[in-house]
Amino acid sequence: MNAPQTTVTPSAICRSCSAATGGALFCPACGKIQPLPPGADYFAFFGLPRKLTLNSETLEQRFHSLSWKLHPDHFARASEEERQLSLDLSSQLNDAYRTLRDPVARVEYLLSLSAMRKEGQKKQQAPPELLEEVFELNESLDELREARASGGNAQQMQGLRAKLEAAQRKFESALAEVDQELGSVSTEWDSALDSSADEAARKKLMERMNEVLNRRSYIRNLVNGVKQELAGT
Ligand SMILES: [Zn+2]
Repeated sequence: MNAPQTTVTPSAICRSCSAATGGALFCPACGKIQPLPPGADYFAFFGLPRKLTLNSETLEQRFHSLSWKLHPDHFARASEEERQLSLDLSSQLNDAYRTLRDPVARVEYLLSLSAMRKEGQKKQQAPPELLEEVFELNESLDELREARASGGNAQQMQGLRAKLEAAQRKFESALAEVDQELGSVSTEWDSALDSSADEAARKKLMERMNEVLNRRSYIRNLVNGVKQELAGT
């Protein structure tokens, strides 16, 4: 089945006056609050296509405007159902905003929509280009723990600390590279949508995004691990 590429306009009907709402959160005819149409995703919430490059100012403006309109205070005298709806939609709006404003979470979310986000067994494997560095890191970590256990002298500890700091810088720059790669696959994804690329081409891009995300999470864990170890020395 083809997933919709852009925001769909479902044939939703106002629950109050039966006018067609076009999927809007407020009926254009009577102004009553409406539930999200079935199949609406976070992108649709903001009236955005499923693209990965998005204008953060536009997103923020729409978020603030929707937060205001959906605020439960405005529904103090409305029916119980409408009040509940404003609460539910407000909380979904917060989730949607938190997810879409973060470029990594945005990609993860896009993949999850098509069940393409797979953490996989390979998640724990070092990317080939980092194998050597990871090996060295583990050695330094072992040395450090040994030195600690045997009450290593200050000079030895300092040397190990310097090694770990160098490793941290290396992995942080690897992380920055992966982020750049994620950015460029994201741009490719958007162009694929613009040129109405077929299902197979889109699937391929999603697989690449998934692979980049896995690599990113591996490297981020390394960085955090080194930081933690350094904080303990
Ligand atoms: Zn209406």
